[in-house]
Amino acid sequence: MTTLQEVRTWDAADPLASFRQRFALPEGIIYLDGNSLGALPRATAERMRTVIDREWGEGLVRSWNDRDWVNAPQRVGAKIAKLIGARSDEVIVADSTSVCLFKLLMAAAETRDGAILAESDNFPTDAHVAGRVAQLLGREYRSVPRAEIAEALAPDVAAAVIAHVDYRSGSRHDMPALTGRGTRIVWDLSHSVGAVPLDLHRDGVELAVGCGYKYLNGGPGAPAFLYVADGLQASLQSPIAGWFGHAAPFDFSTRFEPAPGIGRFLSGTPAVLGLLALETGVDLMLEADPAALWAKSGRLYDLFAARMRTLCPMLRNITAAQAAARGSHISFAHPNALAIVRALVERGVIGDFRTPDVARFGLTPLTLSFEDVWLATETVAEVMTSNAWRDARFASGGIVT
Ligand SMILES: *Cc1c(COP(=O)(O)O)cnc(C)c1O
Repeated sequence: MTTLQEVRTWDAADPLASFRQRFALPEGIIYLDGNSLGALPRATAERMRTVIDREWGEGLVRSWNDRDWVNAPQRVGAKIAKLIGARSDEVIVADSTSVCLFKLLMAAAETRDGAILAESDNFPTDAHVAGRVAQLLGREYRSVPRAEIAEALAPDVAAAVIAHVDYRSGSRHDMPALTGRGTRIVWDLSHSVGAVPLDLHRDGVELAVGCGYKYLNGGPGAPAFLYVADGLQASLQSPIAGWFGHAAPFDFSTRFEPAPGIGRFLSGTPAVLGLLALETGVDLMLEADPAALWAKSGRLYDLFAARMRTLCPMLRNITAAQAAARGSHISFAHPNALAIVRALVERGVIGDFRTPDVARFGLTPLTLSFEDVWLATETVAEVMTSNAWRDARFASGGIVT
């Protein structure tokens, strides 16, 4: 089995190793939940102080122009575009993932007749939004397990929402294979952006949404983003018309005319503090070589999986074996997964639990070392072999996202 000495040589040769010190991670913990809430970049703490004191405190309303707050949704969107293989005017930052999804699913479904399709085992909000869209438009709502989604992309489906990477099992869909079936799909990239390679144009993607507070390290409740392929923008309308989506918001006309491009999917005044925190997280990720990110994600996974196979055979790895068929987290099924995760958190190894029986560990290449994974798996083994999880405290509240 790989020794601690060996993995330390991997860290010494890791081209991404210097990123770790750019995050304000506390001592004494190993953070394996960056896929739920990304860690705090030091630059974000610094920038927030400047934004609050200078831009808001001193600049006041002048900062909308002087600091270009007004274009932040487009500017940050253009940066995210580079991470997902989109053009700079195809992405905008707004709202939460749920609201962005509602906007795109409504817009897509209005262009065609037919049912609304969702994955029954997707992250619940996606199903909730899709169900409500079907109800509002008087359409049939279809929900099928993730494994059956390809066959369900039938000609009588108006629009489907599909998670590229599954939040629980980490399984990754074959994006070009599904887009090639001709049904209009809104892809949810929440567990993909910053985690796996994306090339939306190459893969024929028309519509997508994604999350800002996971791998992009945008901070709790960071705004989300939405993508609309340029050829489609003029033919789609947001279901939430608002003055920021108007062609000329500062004409203050009560006659609505949507902005010509992606800006039509904005509604109200953008949440500037959240946007600027997200921008700093995205800037940091753009500094990293994408090929190095994906390669390290794969190696962190391989180390985690190999050690668990040997040390904890009672934890069943439910993640896809093939790197191209999974995201950047590793998941294990066990009937006592909740207690196991609690015992690990008490020991400073922070992963999370997902119903009904999944212990999930995010493998974020910017913040984790190979030594972290080695030590974390050592702690998992200790908890499993000593049955320490039986004593895990259940008094505290649930581990949320
Ligand atoms: C994290 C996640 C979301 C988050 O939705 P919010 O509205 O931003 O809270 C949505 N969908 C999926 C698939 C997710 O993983």
